[in-house]
Amino acid sequence: MAVTIKSPREIEIMRASGRILKVVLAELEKIIRPGIKTNEIDALAAKIIASYGCIPSFLNYNGFPASICVSVNEEVVHGIPSSRILLEGDIVSLDVGVNYKGYHTDAARTFGVGQVSKEAMQLMNVTKQAFFVGLEKAWAGNHLYDISNAVDAFVAQFGYGIVRDLVGHGIGLELHEDPQLPHFRQKRRGLRLRQGMTICIEPMINMGYAEVEWLDDEWTVISEDRSWSAHYENTILITDGQPELLTL
Ligand code: MG
Repeated sequence: MAVTIKSPREIEIMRASGRILKVVLAELEKIIRPGIKTNEIDALAAKIIASYGCIPSFLNYNGFPASICVSVNEEVVHGIPSSRILLEGDIVSLDVGVNYKGYHTDAARTFGVGQVSKEAMQLMNVTKQAFFVGLEKAWAGNHLYDISNAVDAFVAQFGYGIVRDLVGHGIGLELHEDPQLPHFRQKRRGLRLRQGMTICIEPMINMGYAEVEWLDDEWTVISEDRSWSAHYENTILITDGQPELLTL
């Protein structure tokens, strides 16, 4: 599929989609605490998204059985909400997509549950910072893999593993559009970024090694060494100046 350039009309719809997603994430963050079940977080997300007349982008996506992805500790992404209870010291990644008038936005955050370890706090902070390091390269005229290389160079200082099997992506009428955006070093510079592209930068960072595997549910991605993992994602718009954050 070709990389799409969004029209001003499409961009307006995606801005509205992103505004709703921001509300969802803000409301979900408020209920993260020890004792809550991951499917309670999913239920609240479903309720808020429906209240705006929107559809959760992940629901039924390739058969995904819930409204959002909830991934705990060594789970990297695509965790299926369940009766699992969050415990003090856990970290939980929420990945949320909103389909408004046919246009998607996508964002993820990792939150600490109650008091978390210093190591877990650093992992979450570095993952968030990695997004912003990549964002600095997301200017028209730069190349896609300038983002990849900047994220890699930043994260390398911490000795963490950058997940390679899952990547960022274009977004719009489809949840996942071209181009694919790796968050690790590339030998080429990739395509030239142009005004009107909408992409998701979403580093997934493991405290240990980069390798991941899939659970038998065929969805949940975990780190192979079972080290904890964090995820931070926003949908952004390439402009004629600094990139616009649609979900932050
Ligand atoms: Mg995404």
